[in-house]
Amino acid sequence: MKKDEFFNLMHSIPKAELHVHEEAVLSLNTIKKVYERSFGKSISSGELSSLFKYKDLSGFLDSFIKIQSYFTDINDLKFLFEDFADYLEDNNIVYCETFFSPTSHLKKGWDFSQMIGLVSKSIEKIQKERKRTVRLIIDVSRSFGLENAMHNLDLVLKEKSPYIIGIGLGGNEAKGPAQEFISVFEKARKNGLHVVAHAGEVCGSSSVDDAIEKLGAERIGHGISSCKDDALMKKIVERRIPMEICPTSNVFTRQLVTDLRKHPVRELYDRGAVVTINTDDPAFFKVSLIEEYWNIYYKLRFKLDDIKVLIENSFTSSFAEQKEIKKYLSDFEISWQKWFAEHPSLT
Ligand SMILES: [Zn+2]
Repeated sequence: MKKDEFFNLMHSIPKAELHVHEEAVLSLNTIKKVYERSFGKSISSGELSSLFKYKDLSGFLDSFIKIQSYFTDINDLKFLFEDFADYLEDNNIVYCETFFSPTSHLKKGWDFSQMIGLVSKSIEKIQKERKRTVRLIIDVSRSFGLENAMHNLDLVLKEKSPYIIGIGLGGNEAKGPAQEFISVFEKARKNGLHVVAHAGEVCGSSSVDDAIEKLGAERIGHGISSCKDDALMKKIVERRIPMEICPTSNVFTRQLVTDLRKHPVRELYDRGAVVTINTDDPAFFKVSLIEEYWNIYYKLRFKLDDIKVLIENSFTSSFAEQKEIKKYLSDFEISWQKWFAEHPSLT
């Protein structure tokens, strides 16, 4: 299938995305607007382009935190969600679980309840106007220590927002290993929250194993070092622990893979892991969800049947209610069949 045909197919079918950081969907316009509002002058072209140049994960995380620092007015959060709504529509994502990282905003003195109140209004607007569902996973963060992560969890538990479905552990795993956060995840699970963790993005397979065994992570963010460990792979396959794979992100941060054509997603999928495809930080890595599917179709030789399985996995691996998942899968199947019925030469 040619690129324009593939994109046409992908635009026409509903999809889910499970690993995308909400701040990383912002447009250049939003960065410029927020910067000007905050500092009373235009952002220089040098500073703007430096935000998108990094050699590794640490450099990228520094950029992420720098952009968060441009948001000096809590009401600016609504701009982020306007970009987010466009992103969902452009990629025909009907269900999305997005990471919201409150730590650097809290350090500015922003109130958690107020932030979630504003974000909730944006989520409701997206549901009403765009017919797309957004749920939040709060990144308690591994970069600022246990006390900060526990504080973030306590804020989540106090908030009791219907839009917050779980917590995640983002940041550099080399600087904040899973075992430091066992008590946070234990408390979150006891209180009925879903738990996920970034692991195996920078570090070896033991980091993934720790996320599963020590934190009880229900899904693994990245996990690409897993295929070097047969015992771990067996566990991931047998327990059907979904992997949130973000191919372009891994190539950008150059930790375990530098060439998309050699990305371990192919091996993880072929060995039977439940793989989902995600973008992680689309604005930073200049990739959309549809482009990510194209990449693995074109560069990693996934067949259309495989693409179909990956999209189904993104729904079945979500934390949506079972009856919602059933409906998403049924809508997806209808769209898929309809598109191929209309393009009989492309099956
Ligand atoms: Zn991530």
